[in-house]
Amino acid sequence: MVYSPKVGDPISSLDTPSMIVDLDLMEANISKLMNQLLSTGINIRPHLKTTKSAILARKLSEAGAKGGCVAKLSEAEVICRLGFTDLLITCEIIGAAKVERLVELFRKYRTIRIVVDSEVGATAINEALGKSGIEDPVMTLIDLDVGLHRTGVQPGEPALKLARHVTGLKHLKLIGVQGYEGHLQHVHDREERKKSCLESMVTLTQTSEAFRKEGHNIEVVTTGGTGTAEFCVTVPGVTEVQPGSFLFMDTDYRNAIGTFYSNSLTILATVLSMQGPKSVTIDTGLKSLSTDSGLAECKTLGYTYGVLGDEHGSLTWTDGPGLNIGDKVEMIPSHIDPTINLHDFYYAHRKGVIEEIWPVDARGKVQ
Ligand code: PLP
Ligand code: MN
Repeated sequence: MVYSPKVGDPISSLDTPSMIVDLDLMEANISKLMNQLLSTGINIRPHLKTTKSAILARKLSEAGAKGGCVAKLSEAEVICRLGFTDLLITCEIIGAAKVERLVELFRKYRTIRIVVDSEVGATAINEALGKSGIEDPVMTLIDLDVGLHRTGVQPGEPALKLARHVTGLKHLKLIGVQGYEGHLQHVHDREERKKSCLESMVTLTQTSEAFRKEGHNIEVVTTGGTGTAEFCVTVPGVTEVQPGSFLFMDTDYRNAIGTFYSNSLTILATVLSMQGPKSVTIDTGLKSLSTDSGLAECKTLGYTYGVLGDEHGSLTWTDGPGLNIGDKVEMIPSHIDPTINLHDFYYAHRKGVIEEIWPVDARGKVQ
């Protein structure tokens, strides 16, 4: 019989490594976020760079979110094709190849939103749309640097100059400002995280007001991630937040912001080899668990993980029950987004029985 996991199977029957989701925990994470944020009236536009999944985008919408964010144009292409088209692309679209793809995407889906942080970037998109014969302008947000120093125009005169430029472009319709404070998401001390976040929000909302004073159209002020959304929503002038990781979490986020949200996603692994009385090798290495934010943890306490290369990892222990060849263990990723990008499917289970299988639709879509 061909291996083909299906709904109703126990997760213990899955081949490994497999990415598994505890539905009870994931649904609780969604409820916690919605309960905390929805009543503020702020729009929740979850960042789908985490899940890369149209099914999960829809589940979040059903729970109260409006639209979604994607990081990359190629993610938008996939998620739009699957019928979820209210998307903000949060990275700048630069270069002829990408601009061409944007025009074709916009031809099909007028609901996509883009960000710009330079006159040259905005002009290239304007010119390409001008040549395309498409009449509608594309909804555009100015990406503002609120302290991350990754992308975004500088606040003050540079931002105003860019807003004047964008407002003057026929094929771009300025609708708002994005200011993502990514450098603050993992600040451990909650008060410190809050204080710094509110400072970034001052930059964001004051710039938005300065745009309005000059007559620019600012309807959307979008910001925030899992670590800061609760603070962003308290700031008058912020209209939208973009949390992503809360759905599944990871050890890095848990260490930083605590256990309000649970680790609901793990990588199921199998013990392949005994390497000593208190040491085994499992089948998860660099190709199934990202390591940029430290090493994954075994969900069962007492086992320490080490990387043994592309395909392998070690688990060692000092006391307690040992592991044997063929045993299965669950590994909690250290950084959720790049780990998900390593897998084809989510196997979502409730109490160990597979209930749903979701493809990682935009896996590998980094352009
Ligand atoms: N918004 C932007 C622009 C991002 O780049 C990210 C993540 O990197 C997020 C929101 C979501 O953040 P998180 O996954 O920390 O919730
Ligand atoms: Mn991330």
